[in-house]
Order: sequence, then structure tokens, then C-alpha cells
Amino acid sequence: AYNFSPGPAALPEPVLRQAQAEMLEYRDSGASIVEISHRGEAFLEVAHRTEADLRTLLSIPDDYAVLFTAGGATTVQALLPLNFANAGQTVDYVVTGHWGKTALKQAAPSADARIAASTEAGGFRSLPARGEWTESPDAAYLHVTANETIHGVEFREIPTAGDVPVIADFSSSIASEPLDITRFGAIYAGAQKNLGPVGIAVLIARRDLLERAGQPRAPIFDYRTQLEGESMLNTPPTWNWYMLGLTVKWMLDEGGVAVFAERNARKAALLYSAIDGSGGYYRNDVAIDARSRMNVPFFLHDPALDAAFLTESKAAGLVALKGHRVLGGMRASIYNAMPEAGVQALADFMQEFQQRHG
Ligand code: PLP
Repeated sequence: AYNFSPGPAALPEPVLRQAQAEMLEYRDSGASIVEISHRGEAFLEVAHRTEADLRTLLSIPDDYAVLFTAGGATTVQALLPLNFANAGQTVDYVVTGHWGKTALKQAAPSADARIAASTEAGGFRSLPARGEWTESPDAAYLHVTANETIHGVEFREIPTAGDVPVIADFSSSIASEPLDITRFGAIYAGAQKNLGPVGIAVLIARRDLLERAGQPRAPIFDYRTQLEGESMLNTPPTWNWYMLGLTVKWMLDEGGVAVFAERNARKAALLYSAIDGSGGYYRNDVAIDARSRMNVPFFLHDPALDAAFLTESKAAGLVALKGHRVLGGMRASIYNAMPEAGVQALADFMQEFQQRHG
């Protein structure tokens, strides 16, 4: 089956196969990968290799720290103002969908969180024109969601904001194409789309920003302390970290982010042309220049056909196409692990379905 789940999302088969074997016994250690100490040599090797491979994959410069944090992207969102803003300081949010709203909501209790731009009035179907952003010049940071997983809206080029560092949520598009990290103060991602299983997130932050005083916070929520403790202040989610390492290694073996960028562009073009070429039978409402390459929401012309579409697509081996409850309709998530053949199979199915039910 081809799994179009938005997350937890499909993982590459070689990763799952290796994990299956090492779940039973990790490299002659006499124990499973989930049964070994995070402080032992074998796991430290996994942790260090994962960071080194991620640095290679994403071309992360040395003046950026990499943290592996327990919990999800939402956890990071709540901790951003505590770590990167002083009490009462302004933090700006560009809101282009559900996850931008979530990020704002998580920050609001700990900072003066303001909306610098929002496309909510238009139903989150476009990107806000750069000239219309109302940023605060003294903001601690400006937060942007690179790819809105539910609304299917993606910044193709995230504008920077003068001297104010940009912090971007790349949960659903990290490693999908080359990225110049030096344009950002920090980027972060929950792992469960392009990086592995849920339960761990990656935060890549400019080291000088981590030196900011921030606000009173427990050591476990303090990214400086976490960095000093190599993301192991407490027992880290070792299984998730290991799986993230395997997934990153797989992406390197496949040729790296430039190769995925090409594949992802082809996959998205194929799916959008299946939608746009259906004569209105299928529809995607996002402005063309804002369309996501990773998550493609689409609607059938008659919602009464939704149930049949889901049943028949599942029977054809195309699973998890049901849209998010916020939008309804369908959504195909086509992350790095989705092969081009999977998207071709979906496009073919859509055409057949239209012929059968048209
Ligand atoms: N940001 C984006 C863009 C997401 O897609 C998600 C989850 O799907 C989140 C944040 C929240 O992630 P988590 O569930 O790991 O907290």
C-alpha cells in the first residue's frame, strides 16, 4: 500500500527493515536498541552519528547548534518565547494556517505575541504579501510556518526580517529541498513527517541566540542547558532518536536533499496536474504560488462522493487520504518517503474514479 498519512507518516522501507532486525538485537549487544542505556557507548555512537549525518544532510554550519528534544513541535513552540525572548518582549507571528495559529497560541502565555500578518480572513489559501507584514522592529524574533500541513500552503522562499531573527517551523518540509539555514535564527521540526517517528523534535539554532537570557525556566526547558547536556539532561527518547538517525542516513544514501527536491517537485506537479486537469471534478483551493509540495488538500466536486472515494482508494492500496477535520475533503501527504510511483498510482486512481462515478 502507499500511505499518504500526514503524520505520523510513512517511513522508508529499508529503515523499517533495519529497525525490525535491531529491535530484536542491536549489533551483538545482547539487547534490543530500546534496551540499551543512553549513556552507553553504543547509543552515544547512534546519537553522535545522527547529529553528524543531519549536519551533512542539511548543510548545518558550525555556528548553529542541533538539539534533539523530547516531545513534539508544539513543545518547541511553547518553549521558543521562554528561550529566545525576555518577559514581556514582543514576538511576531506570521500566520498562514492552523499550525501558525497553534504556534502563536503556545507563545501567548509567555510573551507579547503579535500577529505580523495573517491570511485567516481568506481561509488560509494564500501567502501574505511581504509589503503588508506589520512587524515590530524590536521583536525578539519573527515566527513563520514554512509549510502548513493542513491547509497545504507553503512558502517557497521565506523572506527574512531585517535584524529580527526568523524562527521557522519546518515540521512538514524539512529536508525536502536544499535550505540556507544561515537565513534563519532557528528552525525546528517534529520528526514524524520527513525525519522519523513521532516523539522527538529537532531544533537547529544559531548559537549566539541560545546565549540570550530568556525567561525563568526549569533546566529541562532551557535550550542552553540542554545543549550543554548534549540533549540528554534526562533519559532521551532513544528509540525515536535512533529511528531519526536511520531516516537521515537513508536520505543521504538516496543522494541528499537536492535529489529529494527534484523528486518532490515532480510528485507535486503530477498530483496538481491531475487535480487541475480534471475539469473541476477535483479541486485545490490554494493560490498556485502558495501550493505545498508536501501536503495536497483536494475536494471532490460533490462531497457525497467522499465516502466512496475513501473506500475505493483504500481498496486500491492508497491509504490515509481523508482530509483533516478542519477542512474536510481529501489530503495527500507526499513526503520524501513517498515514491513517485505512489503519486502516479494516486493520479491514475483519481482518473479512474472520475470515469466510474463521473
Ligand atoms: N507544526 C506543523 C507544521 C505540523 O504539521 C505539526 C503537526 O502535524 C505541528 C507543528 C505539531 O507537531 P507535534 O504534533 O509534533 O507537536
